[in-house]
Amino acid sequence: MHDNSILVRARIARFVSERIEPAIYRDRRPLTIEAWEVPGEPVPFSEARAATYRPFTVGQPWGKPWGTTWFHVTGQAPVEWQADGTRIELLVDLGFTSGQSGFQAEALVFRADGSVIKAIEPFNAYVPIDPGGAVDLYIEAASNPDVAAGGFTRPTRMGDTLTSGVEPIYSLRHIDIALLDREVWQLDREFVALGGLMAQLPHGTMRPAEIQRALERAMDVMDPQDIAQTAKAGRAELAGVLAKPASASAHRITAVGHAHIDSAWLWPVRETIRKCARTFSNVLQLMDEDPEFVFACSSAQQYAWIKEFYPELFERIRARVAEGRFVPVGGMWLESDTNLISGESMARQLIAGKTFFQREFGVEPQEVWLPDSFGYSGALPQIVAAAGSKYFLTQKISWNETNVFPHSTFDWEGIDGTRILTHFPPVNTYNSDLSAAELALSEHNYAEKGDANSSLVPFGYGDGGGGPTREMLAAAKLTRSLEGSPTVEISSPQSFFERAEAEYATPPVWTGELYLEFHRGTYTSQARTKRGNRRSERLLREAELWAATAAIRSGFVYPYGELEGLWHTVLLQQFHDILPGTSIAWVYRVAEQEYARVATELEAIISGALGSLSAADGDSGPVTSFNASPFVVDGIAPLSSGVAATAGSVRLERIGDGFVLESDRARFELDDSGRIRSAIDLRTGRETIPPGALAAELQLFRDTPTQWEAWDIDVHYQRHGEVIDAVDGVAVTEESGRVTVTFTRSFGASRLSQQFSLEAGSASIEIATHVDWHERQKLLKLAFPLDLRAERAASEVQFGHIYRPTHDNTSWDSARFETSAHRWMQVGEPGFEVAIANDSTYGHDVTRQPRPGGGTMTVLRQSLLRAPLFPDPDADQGEHDFRASFTIGAEIADAVREGYRLGIPLRSGPLGQGGAVVPLLSIDNPAVVIETVKLAEDRSGDLVVRFYESLGARATAHVTFDVPATGITETDLLERELGEPTALVSTTESSAQLSLRPFQLVTLRIARA
Ligand SMILES: [Zn+2]
Repeated sequence: MHDNSILVRARIARFVSERIEPAIYRDRRPLTIEAWEVPGEPVPFSEARAATYRPFTVGQPWGKPWGTTWFHVTGQAPVEWQADGTRIELLVDLGFTSGQSGFQAEALVFRADGSVIKAIEPFNAYVPIDPGGAVDLYIEAASNPDVAAGGFTRPTRMGDTLTSGVEPIYSLRHIDIALLDREVWQLDREFVALGGLMAQLPHGTMRPAEIQRALERAMDVMDPQDIAQTAKAGRAELAGVLAKPASASAHRITAVGHAHIDSAWLWPVRETIRKCARTFSNVLQLMDEDPEFVFACSSAQQYAWIKEFYPELFERIRARVAEGRFVPVGGMWLESDTNLISGESMARQLIAGKTFFQREFGVEPQEVWLPDSFGYSGALPQIVAAAGSKYFLTQKISWNETNVFPHSTFDWEGIDGTRILTHFPPVNTYNSDLSAAELALSEHNYAEKGDANSSLVPFGYGDGGGGPTREMLAAAKLTRSLEGSPTVEISSPQSFFERAEAEYATPPVWTGELYLEFHRGTYTSQARTKRGNRRSERLLREAELWAATAAIRSGFVYPYGELEGLWHTVLLQQFHDILPGTSIAWVYRVAEQEYARVATELEAIISGALGSLSAADGDSGPVTSFNASPFVVDGIAPLSSGVAATAGSVRLERIGDGFVLESDRARFELDDSGRIRSAIDLRTGRETIPPGALAAELQLFRDTPTQWEAWDIDVHYQRHGEVIDAVDGVAVTEESGRVTVTFTRSFGASRLSQQFSLEAGSASIEIATHVDWHERQKLLKLAFPLDLRAERAASEVQFGHIYRPTHDNTSWDSARFETSAHRWMQVGEPGFEVAIANDSTYGHDVTRQPRPGGGTMTVLRQSLLRAPLFPDPDADQGEHDFRASFTIGAEIADAVREGYRLGIPLRSGPLGQGGAVVPLLSIDNPAVVIETVKLAEDRSGDLVVRFYESLGARATAHVTFDVPATGITETDLLERELGEPTALVSTTESSAQLSLRPFQLVTLRIARA
């Protein structure tokens, strides 16, 4: 027989697009349309309904960027539309572009009584009409611009209402009432599923040929002029190939309905709230029609928005959650970044999320669900487990530029040794449409073949929302068991993980961080927002500590509700497109306002608590400084107050072509260009700066990433740099116990000052940089060449640190050319180490360079600033402040202490009559850090304290509490007592003996008398 498959396949494609699809609706009629444009920000339904509407016609332009237009639609279906096998629907085309769903106009449809039906989006633009065929509907249409229409590099002013203009950007194409032919719709689905499967199967095998002939016969028996009357006959020809079951070794896919809704990105938070309502109403409507549909939604924050703004929708969600079909997953407040947020923030993401899910729905998600964040900290496994969860899911590592991640299902081992079962969906998308191509990809990429056979596919339009469609559900049903296809079962993430766990007793292990070989600019972009996050984390620590101390010492009313609300605000800004710096300008305008409000409110809580303490405490003299850090600072014990006193001496000397700053511990020499040419540890005489090198040097690089402007630093930046060494002016200040030299500079369109300060008794020179930054596509780094041959570099992460090699032997090492660190990095040789700490910088790089005189030196650099052009064309323009410190002779313990010293400065307290604040607790081993002191989430008044082992070594510690207590227990992050303590060895009424593993995290709960 002649092989005519190319011709047959072309015939099938044309038959579907030109015959079947136009026949899906038997008839359609226009409706009467009126419209009202909201003058400002969105309004509730009641206000919109009461507005004055004007007649509106198809073809008319509507919608300024970010505007809202309400369409009121009325009419009646013709009486003859009553045939069996049909359904009356509203069809809307707002003027959709060919772009992605969720990145353009979208709408929500309300009945006249204000109840929500479903959304209108591209590829999902219908609304079912009640059988009588009467129409009286309100459509809240959002004229959101497609900010990324020009790709992810081209500057646009569309990302903020302040600059996006007022001209309409859409034209209404139609609002019709139409009669759907269910048989033709199903025929269309079968053609698509079988045609797709046929294309995936190897040519020359039996199954695709069999499918091809069946599709050909179906076309032959149908009348192209009358698909409606002949569709049934066509489907009969397909029944045989659709009935053949999947093979016994078919790949098993758990399909999970999903909508990855970015809580802010190329739209502001206020639009995300509406996106959630649109997506969730689509989901609820599909659930009404399909009892097998299961949908997983992460992010307690998104449920909380629905509860607040769409209570009727929330109650419908609550009912579906109770059935196990609307499934809260992830257990976090939202899908946060995990490189940049602090350990306590990561804990609170889970505490706030799980608390919400338990309170509202009585469920506790068992998996952490982060498909899209930009790399995953090695601290996560322990924190996930400490929150009582068992599983982890991500997909993003498939975006690696260089290396293919080797596993689909594996145990992920964190910095402390905790392992959690992790799945990395081989479908390589969290927005699958369950097409045959994606199902085949899922099997093809599945890395555990032969040992296990299950993968998870999240399906539904995502990023901008939308969610699953009825077409996707049809695809799932047709592939439940279909020869040649993986099997598809719609179910929950938990059922997938339980199956994966059962079928795979010894999964492979991946140790340490899941570094994303991409988006390395996200550690640096939008520096003011990063600073806002770091400051908020510090102020939350202080507020909780002092409020708890004052509540116990002086009856201060602990502000539970306020603190919870402020945490929620900070957790929201940690979303994986806000804190990383990859959202539109509007998002950062709001974020900076929110951080300012958070700071004001936390400062008020802190001063209230300190005022209460000062008024109530003893009588031993004036209180001058409060130390919220876990280490002694200027003679003041941790978590207490006292009079700060520096020990030792410091001096400043002008020499011929520079300055000498010298303490009892270290001698630093600056040259006239404001760089450190010598740094000597006076205990050993060791010089830290390599011959001829200069440290604390500002370097300015061309920063023109190829694909994703705010997201990426491409490696080629390294080839185009210049040193900023010109000096406009120098000033010297000497205070008691502190000397400072300030250099002012200008370059490009920017101005900058750098203050070098040394305190008495200190081995750390502090560098405070103030920049008025007006560069574009430039990367500013602060470089420290060090006369050390460091094999590896330590970077602080949540509740510990990780080591990364400083060489680039392998493709994995080489791809890690820009990395994130929290408060410090540390490098060294045996016996001599150096730490570079910061107060709000995250991006770093460490390299080896040839050393004059032989060998190599280590160059450690902080990435201070970028200026990407998309999505915010003015990203990072304006004023910035950074503090860094350079500590010589710094072991890990010194680095940890320096990170806290720079991050939590002493706070001047009210100069009342109060004596020194007696700390609520003290600990005898500084390796065990007191991270958090607060009152319990259940508002019982119990004290909760969180510790971690900070050096990566085993540690014992004795904790003494100065709190009237009735019992001390070890708990999980949700403050539930552990059945088996893991670190708590013994207790007395007022003390606890701890024994910790390296980097172990411990939470103690002190029941108060
Ligand atoms: Zn995302």
